[in-house]
Amino acid sequence: MDLLSKFEAVAEIPRQLNGGSLDPTNVVMDQLVSATEAVVQGRSVILAGTNNYLGLTFDAECIEAGKRALDQAGTGTTGSRMANGNFTAHQALERELAEFYDMPHAVVFPTGYVANLGTLCGLLGADDCVLLDADAHASLYDGARMSGAEVYRFKHNDPASLDAHLRRLKARATRTLIVTEGLYSILGDTAPLAEFVAIKQRYGAYLLVDEAHSLGVYGDRGRGLSDAAGVLPEVDFIVGTFSKSLGATGGFCVSAHKALALLRYTSRPYIFTASASPSVIATTRTALALMQKRPQLRQQLWRNAHELHAGLSNLKLQLGSEISPIVSVGFDSREAALACWHSMMKSGVYTNLVVPPASPDGSSLIRCSISAAHTSEQIQCIVDAFANAIGAAESAKGAASV
Ligand code: PMP
Repeated sequence: MDLLSKFEAVAEIPRQLNGGSLDPTNVVMDQLVSATEAVVQGRSVILAGTNNYLGLTFDAECIEAGKRALDQAGTGTTGSRMANGNFTAHQALERELAEFYDMPHAVVFPTGYVANLGTLCGLLGADDCVLLDADAHASLYDGARMSGAEVYRFKHNDPASLDAHLRRLKARATRTLIVTEGLYSILGDTAPLAEFVAIKQRYGAYLLVDEAHSLGVYGDRGRGLSDAAGVLPEVDFIVGTFSKSLGATGGFCVSAHKALALLRYTSRPYIFTASASPSVIATTRTALALMQKRPQLRQQLWRNAHELHAGLSNLKLQLGSEISPIVSVGFDSREAALACWHSMMKSGVYTNLVVPPASPDGSSLIRCSISAAHTSEQIQCIVDAFANAIGAAESAKGAASV
């Protein structure tokens, strides 16, 4: 055995997933036609797995803002925020986010992944504890580990489990950061944030909520699940990403705690990476403004979410417990999910295949995310493709509930 022997097993992964032509982990979008359509290997597909919740990726105002920024500020910043990569546009976006959330401090990072690494590493040290929801995103786990803090997991969305952990931590509870998501990215279920806030207040702990999938989706103004649950001012740190509802790349953290502003001096993932390109910041700022100016996008998104959910329920697929823009269908086996995914692609519908180790509880799923930009006809195509695919999946093993 040498350094590279382990890759012999890795080389099996694409072979097992490839249904003759396509590898679900390496789908190449040859051409993007719109927010909801692409060409993949010569085949036109409806995009039903892109997290493009508000459909803003092809918005004319966002594109124009990006082009203007390219002309005015160039292609890249070529440096960290700490050095030459700190432009007025980065600071303006931070001010706009702080204002949007009504919190005094905001920090922008080059991706949502880095936002989580940077925030957790900046906030936590070896003497601290972090309590992660078991289904929290990989970036939250990675940030927690990288920080050197003691890491514990509580049962997914379970206030009693969270409470029991804090009770065991005793006086250390005040040095503990609880980490949860708002809308969960794979199953589309939501965290009981009001209960979590009550618990963290009882123990004097801190709470961070990752609103990556909830920004633009929940709340009267699109501020996320914390706002919809009426607890936004009580959440200590909100993190999120620009790569979903805002159709760009990047991430952020907002907070009422001054510690967030000071994190710029302590957080290695903030300090040691180049800042986002001016065009990305420009499209993000425009999308953030449009999201607030056009509440009808969020209303359409929810109409579409209900329409897709109703269509898939009629097929007697057992879906997740909550209706949201993320709709996942579970299967008994990885083979059944894989067969369904390939059949959906043949029908011209792109979804996300989620199999272990990427899935919660070792389940195998097809995950759809719906967009405000989908038409009723496209939603019907997605439902029809599932109806066709279920036959293929059942012959491979049989569909079951998530
Ligand atoms: N947090 C959550 C909950 C996510 O689902 C994701 C990405 N899917 C991220 C963070 C990372 O965001 P990005 O892809 O923008 O880096």
